Amino acid sequence: MAHQWRGVIREYADRLPVTEATKVITLGEGGTPLVHAQKLSELTGSEVYLKVEGMNPTGSFKDRGMTMAMTAAVEAGAKAVVCASTGNTSASAAAYATAAGLKCAVLVPEGKISMGKLSQAIAHGATLLQVDGNFDNCLDIARKLGEAYPVFLVNSVNPARIQGQKTGAFEVVDSLGDAPDIHVLPVGNAGNISAYWKGYKEYSGPFETANGTLPAVSTKTPIMWGFQAAGAAPFVAGHPITEPDTIATAIRIGNPASWDTAVAARDESGGLIEAVSDDEILAAHRWLSAKEGVFVEPGSAAGVAGLIKKHAAGEVPAGKTIVITVTGHGLKDPQWALRTEDGSDVQPVKVPNDVVTVAAELGLEEN
Ligand SMILES: *Cc1c(COP(=O)(O)O)cnc(C)c1O
Repeated sequence: MAHQWRGVIREYADRLPVTEATKVITLGEGGTPLVHAQKLSELTGSEVYLKVEGMNPTGSFKDRGMTMAMTAAVEAGAKAVVCASTGNTSASAAAYATAAGLKCAVLVPEGKISMGKLSQAIAHGATLLQVDGNFDNCLDIARKLGEAYPVFLVNSVNPARIQGQKTGAFEVVDSLGDAPDIHVLPVGNAGNISAYWKGYKEYSGPFETANGTLPAVSTKTPIMWGFQAAGAAPFVAGHPITEPDTIATAIRIGNPASWDTAVAARDESGGLIEAVSDDEILAAHRWLSAKEGVFVEPGSAAGVAGLIKKHAAGEVPAGKTIVITVTGHGLKDPQWALRTEDGSDVQPVKVPNDVVTVAAELGLEEN
């Protein structure tokens, strides 16, 4: 029987804070592919999978949390929502606010948002304000608006967001039949690493619901490996960074909102949060598109950059199952694909309208 995926709230309703009466705001998010990464598996000797979150309705994992946050906003009688964003949260909030019939205001940092993400927020009719400051300043203002004005905050400091995002872990376990040994992902504001860890923990033991106790689904939890951009690596420094800097704008965050839960995810799982350079991020970005066939935005490649770096250091075990969340779609920020390794722009080769010249340019000889 054909089964249409119904979005993460309906698929995992018994594990989320919703009831039969809840009006669900969804665009059909979740159910994203878990792709076997052949070349990374060959490289490491482990089975490496990519959780391709660019396949969500607005092109990033943010939609998993936004379906919950917007559903909660409607349940609370909100008329308007607000968020701070490095880009993907605003794209997602704008789309889900449209689906919910709510007004949406987004605060983005000056000059650091990719065209793709900006155009989504505009297309979905959000009121977009560029704040003369960085993401951390935007979040500060958004929080204060949520406290003192009649707008509902949909950043990942809203616990509904984390609830929705934990379904990424459920899907991984449901696909593999058990939790992986290691789960790798980029870390910015640190909501996602917190959410995955919550999801893995909930799936590995009995889970209390209003209708009784659900049995454990997995036999174990993974080790969590988080990777930050070196210029925006507060967890590595051990303190907030005032001027975060990286080409990976989605993780250009100096003062992560989910600090304590991310540290708990790292420590309880026996994992780590380390840094990768922008060059390593761009190399991993190229690896994914050129060797695996998966196109992501630069920030999404930080986890893969981390795995490659740890492998080079001899620190990736063989014979394990490793899942890497690649967080957003390559079309969000496509300019990076058009750069060569030495930083110059890729130009298409120009040819005349003539089959013989085109064949010669392709290195083809006539049969
Ligand atoms: C938001 C985002 C991240 C960072 O996730 P956090 O939950 O803030 O750590 C990474 N990659 C992409 C593409 C994102 O949109």
